Amino acid sequence: MTGPSSPRPRDRAVTDEASGALRPFSPRPEGGPGSVSLVFAWELHERLLWISNLRWLAVVGLAAVSLLGPSVGMDATRPSLMVVAALVAAYNLVFVYALKIRFGPEEDYRNLRTLAILQMVTDLAALLVTVHFTGGCTSPVLPFVVFHMAIGTIMIETGIMYVLAFATCFVAAGLFASEHLGVLDRYASVIGGESTLAGCGLSTAMLVGLVFGIVYLTDSVTSRFKARNIELHRTTGELRRSLDEREELERRKSHYMRISAHQLRSPLGTIKTSLQVLLDGYLDPGSDEGLRLLSGTARRVDSLLDIVNDLLELAKMREGRVKAPWARNVSINQILADIFDAADPIAREADVELVPHFIHEGAAVLDWAVPPDLVYAFENVIHNAIKYSKPEGGTVTVALGIDRTHAMVVVADEGIGISVDLQDDVFLEFVRAPNAKHIEAEGTGLGLSIVREAVQMHGGKVSLESAEGVGTKVTMVFPLHHVPPEIGRA
Ligand code: ATP
Ligand code: MG
Repeated sequence: MTGPSSPRPRDRAVTDEASGALRPFSPRPEGGPGSVSLVFAWELHERLLWISNLRWLAVVGLAAVSLLGPSVGMDATRPSLMVVAALVAAYNLVFVYALKIRFGPEEDYRNLRTLAILQMVTDLAALLVTVHFTGGCTSPVLPFVVFHMAIGTIMIETGIMYVLAFATCFVAAGLFASEHLGVLDRYASVIGGESTLAGCGLSTAMLVGLVFGIVYLTDSVTSRFKARNIELHRTTGELRRSLDEREELERRKSHYMRISAHQLRSPLGTIKTSLQVLLDGYLDPGSDEGLRLLSGTARRVDSLLDIVNDLLELAKMREGRVKAPWARNVSINQILADIFDAADPIAREADVELVPHFIHEGAAVLDWAVPPDLVYAFENVIHNAIKYSKPEGGTVTVALGIDRTHAMVVVADEGIGISVDLQDDVFLEFVRAPNAKHIEAEGTGLGLSIVREAVQMHGGKVSLESAEGVGTKVTMVFPLHHVPPEIGRA
């Protein structure tokens, strides 16, 4: 038999919490510390199983009293007790089935609590029926009602237990009154003795006092433990979460280092080979071929610099947010207008018509923003749109939408598009689609990952819709009143 507090799937409870779903808890938010009367789902499951096991003892006890009563001097056997024993056995089978087959320890807390309430109600009903057949207010079974109340208060909310306490006392008083008024048969106590009206009144009063007293006392004693229990698990969950975060960070860092090393190695290798050719005297640096080799090498050095700059930008965003130059009341309209002026010649060269759909929009002003990062984000997306409109060119529109809480920047082009399977991946570092590499050899594949970082640090989201050969639409949504955590904390 498993005791009510034997440790079992604690890890699972914590893991569940770590995933963000507070499934094992069902906190009662408005209560003070004294009102914490809840346990974890798995704990409740164990306790319910424990009670089911105890219930078999009750079945055996009832059957034994029914059969063996006379031989140990008890007044009378009660065939009815056998019926009660059979009923208790039958509903216990249903509960055991529910607990072992239908509801595991990971079951939703609310379902288990409903089951617990159902068990309490059926047990109390069975107890009161037993009390009736074993002598009414003089029945030796009466104290078990109090025992049940204590168990119930450990398992479920005290409020519910007070309701059950009231219902139990009400039904018990009604039962005793009916017995004395002759509405129901009155059975002599199984341990002998007759009940008088006054004695019965006293028993009822004592029952009421004990039932409510035990609920109150059990709640006062256990609520502190429950609060600590929940606190402990919450802390363990938080520790585990931060451990997982650190692991994930480490993993990403080493992944990132590997890719960076790989990205830098191939152009460096080519540069070294070219220089070796010149150093070994295979080519005259002053000759046409030598000059071509040198200018190719210079281009590769440029692209290496691009990669290094992008990597630095990304690292700065990931690590240096605390020092980011947050500014107040930053106008997106203004930033877009500046970028437009600078991007126009690039667009013209690529045969692209840049259409500003934000001129007549209202002012999109972010409470807090880091202007250089916003510029970087918009520039990257607009440059991508121009770059990947090649070779035919087309139209690139930049639109701005505003409502009371958000600003939305949408950059749409009619270029090469991105195949469906790569549409999520292009936000990862160094990912470039084959069609992009085909029309534009230069590119690090870091731009969109920086865009995403920049948008997210402003509390926003970036998404992309695209169809290969049709065009791409990148949408960036910013909350107007986002307060960055480092500002909020200051
Ligand atoms: P860089 O780091 O120099 O910006 P890049 O432009 O290739 O290089 P990202 O800006 O990160 O890198 O874009 C990643 C990939 O997403 C691109 O290589 C391209 O395959 C795809 N892509 C991004 N924008 C567009 C677009 N507007 N149309 C088509 N493909 C796009
Ligand atoms: Mg780019």
